[in-house]
Amino acid sequence: MLLTITTTYQPATDLGFLLVKNPARCQSFSLSFGQAHVFYPVAHDSVCTAALLVDLDPIRLVRRRRSRQSQNGTLGQYVNDRPYVASSFLSVALARVYKSALGGQSKERPALAATAIPLEAQITAVQCRDGESMLRALFEPLGYNVSAERQPLDAAFPEWGESTYWSVTLNATHRLQDLLTHLYVLLPVLDNDKHYWVGEDELEKLLAKGEDWLSTHPERDLIVDRYLRYQRHLTREALARLVADDDIDPDATEEAHAREEEVLEARISLSEQRMMTVLAVLRGAGATRVIDLGCGEGRFLQTLLKNTDCEQIAGMDVSSRALALAKRRLRLDRLPAMQRARIKLFQGALTYRDQRLTGYDTACALEVIEHLEPSRLGAFERVLFEFSRPSTVVITTPNTEYNVQFENLTASRFRHSDHRFEWTREEFSRWAKRVADRSGYEFRLLPIGPVDPAVGPPTQMAVFSR
Ligand code: SAH
Repeated sequence: MLLTITTTYQPATDLGFLLVKNPARCQSFSLSFGQAHVFYPVAHDSVCTAALLVDLDPIRLVRRRRSRQSQNGTLGQYVNDRPYVASSFLSVALARVYKSALGGQSKERPALAATAIPLEAQITAVQCRDGESMLRALFEPLGYNVSAERQPLDAAFPEWGESTYWSVTLNATHRLQDLLTHLYVLLPVLDNDKHYWVGEDELEKLLAKGEDWLSTHPERDLIVDRYLRYQRHLTREALARLVADDDIDPDATEEAHAREEEVLEARISLSEQRMMTVLAVLRGAGATRVIDLGCGEGRFLQTLLKNTDCEQIAGMDVSSRALALAKRRLRLDRLPAMQRARIKLFQGALTYRDQRLTGYDTACALEVIEHLEPSRLGAFERVLFEFSRPSTVVITTPNTEYNVQFENLTASRFRHSDHRFEWTREEFSRWAKRVADRSGYEFRLLPIGPVDPAVGPPTQMAVFSR
């Protein structure tokens, strides 16, 4: 992927001071997913162009299990558009290689860094399924002159028609920092693929980088939503923080309706948030062989199958009915052979040693432990943490303190009639600490769903690793 930045400010080679990259040299930087190179195809007093070329290594990506592509199967992991298209990878490279310029700093030319200068950015391949109007809707409100040329699928075969890739040129008189910031946030938004990054700190980054332009951007909601894709609670929080300063006096009933809707929405998407959060944790841990304990009807297995390139995915449950539903949901009978080979389902109980539970690097149990009799919990702990011993274990369970937030549910009642217990944050944390200390794991606790200042999040998660 290639991004060039050109200025006609004079002397134009001062661009080198702003980027802290000498126009006379070619420099390379190692990134976790490949190599970035900076060089200047043109460097005169009247015009200067800095090129950032990112050479993404798809093999390293697959090895690191950081790939965010939706392609399953082997070929798609290696042969795809990621090396060429401006995406979140380019943003990460930009932040690394042009760090001080992105922060608005320049030791040699501080005044110039704070000055709007004529700038042109060219991005060779931008994926924009929504067409040119989306490009314009994102960049024009920020003062850019946008020109875009759609690429044919293959220049040698014009009859194949157009691709969804565009060559884009943006012109504006801006501070360099502004241009870099806009690109940092908006390139992944345009690309709209799964992001290279996943993490709570992305919210902070977005708010920091978007501080003075995002809150008034007409496409604000779309930008926040896409930037924080798969992290719905982050999206909601980001929007809340961006609108917090808005000087509007909303009609009281409308506000009340919005709140009702939010509550409803939060409820509908809690299970989705749970799955997406666990997915993010598994990706971060580099999971390749995952077992879902108490997989139920296979919702999370389906997520794993679709959104990761894990080589082995297993689901285990005590209920044959749940397994039959899982089999149907996953369309096991109709999966192509390569996909079929990645997944298996089997019946078993979590409280008995079972050879089939070994050989996985990651185990998760989403909303399962609360279904076990407290007297059987010790057996579950031994099976999982002493016998199977995967490198990563993810456990989620309700936070009973949050129950007061659900209508018709008091803190003393359980969310589900089949629950044998529900823990407070304190109880869960004590349990996790005891298990981790005894079996030689580290652990961290993370919230899932909107965190209430008094009673915490609706779901709590422990991530154990060794
Ligand atoms: N993980 C799923 C299902 C949660 S419901 C989800 O998040 O949607 C709890 C599941 O645990 C049920 O499917 C139940 O059959 C299973 N389960 C309960 N006790 C079990 C045990 N001892 N061994 C294995 N599975 C068990």
